[in-house]
Amino acid sequence: MSNVRALSCTRCDYQEAPASTEYNCPRCGGVREVLFDYEVIRAHFGKETLAADRRWDVRRYLPLLPIPEGAPLTPLRVGGTPVYQAPRLAQKAGVARVWVKDEGGQPTGSFKDRASFVGVARAAHQGQKIVAAASTGNAATSLAGLAASLGLLPYIFVPATAPEAKVAQLLAYGAKVFAIEADYDTTYDLCQQAVAHFGWYNRSAAVNPYLVEGKKTCGLEIGEELGQDPPDWVSMSVGDGCSLAGTYKGLVEMFQLGLLQKIPKMLAVQAAGAAPLTRAFDAHTEEVERLEAQTIADSINVGMPRNPLKALRAVRASGGRFVNVSDDAILAAIPEVARATGVFGEPAAVTAWAGVHAAVEAGILGKNDSVLVVSTGTGLKDVKAARRATQASPTLAPTMDAVIKRVESL
Ligand SMILES: *Cc1c(COP(=O)(O)O)cnc(C)c1O
Ligand SMILES: [Zn+2]
Repeated sequence: MSNVRALSCTRCDYQEAPASTEYNCPRCGGVREVLFDYEVIRAHFGKETLAADRRWDVRRYLPLLPIPEGAPLTPLRVGGTPVYQAPRLAQKAGVARVWVKDEGGQPTGSFKDRASFVGVARAAHQGQKIVAAASTGNAATSLAGLAASLGLLPYIFVPATAPEAKVAQLLAYGAKVFAIEADYDTTYDLCQQAVAHFGWYNRSAAVNPYLVEGKKTCGLEIGEELGQDPPDWVSMSVGDGCSLAGTYKGLVEMFQLGLLQKIPKMLAVQAAGAAPLTRAFDAHTEEVERLEAQTIADSINVGMPRNPLKALRAVRASGGRFVNVSDDAILAAIPEVARATGVFGEPAAVTAWAGVHAAVEAGILGKNDSVLVVSTGTGLKDVKAARRATQASPTLAPTMDAVIKRVESL
């Protein structure tokens, strides 16, 4: 029996059995939400089964994922990322407690593997050979890596300005890369047209509602790890909004299953140069205007978010807030997090930490609050940004003299 009950449109509320199409609402084109049959799920999933399950990765949550039985799964180990206490970060921001959940150790180095896990399983199950995505980088490399693991062929649309490490990773995985001379928003639109034209499997988390369900495994893990002592807030950076919306759904499910004592508030952090959702949230509207986007945090350099309703509603339902941070604050957060925790994040990853500072300044977070920061991707994805955020070391002559001088100068 399937655990999926229906697909429901976030815009017009039209509901149907999950059959007619994999993607957007056939009536209005809106993004859809996967509704589960929790009765069916509860019959063979819960506290006891989780306690007995020794796998610490997303396969723990298969009963909560829209993956048909018998679908091929990537052998790569997705999820099960660590949560670290970060007392020195807490001290720096003046809050009670901080945890960092490091997504940098995912198979392809970012949070996106959680969504791709579901995407490639569904594509392979349907016999689709070609899987396509448009991405600022990480969704693409993630799809490419997980597709490679199952012998699928990734077709990837990226802005020609995508960081070199991400493009190199794509090419290594054998992706067919379409490097478009345009921004992400235009690249995205072109990919959607190509997908419709050629009939490829669409791994866009804003079009394919099943992928957000993969992203919820982050929330499920937080629920399991900190369920007895949950943080007041969970901070995440926001581009399209799928990652935050997915994580929130996972937190809600853990709460409903009785594994999480309270649902944290979501702190949604946008780069000041790409903040259409903050603007909509603060204006109490669900109408999101397309803005010119410009930020160093390429993974959230999104002017036209593709999943605005789910993200706006998740933050509102949680009692949370949106905040903006400058590129300078993002850059400063790279070494700050790395030095206080050992976690090296890419700009969009440490944006979540920069947002904690911003929220404290705005009086949203206080000294009694605790916050879990999701560091969504490894800093190795964008070493240029890390170099900009740190001071270069001088080169030295190969003599002890030079070494001694250098030591004295430290
Ligand atoms: C994609 C991504 C985000 C933002 O996720 P959205 O679903 O676009 O909001 C944040 N950080 C990293 C590293 C990402 O790759
Ligand atoms: Zn609709």
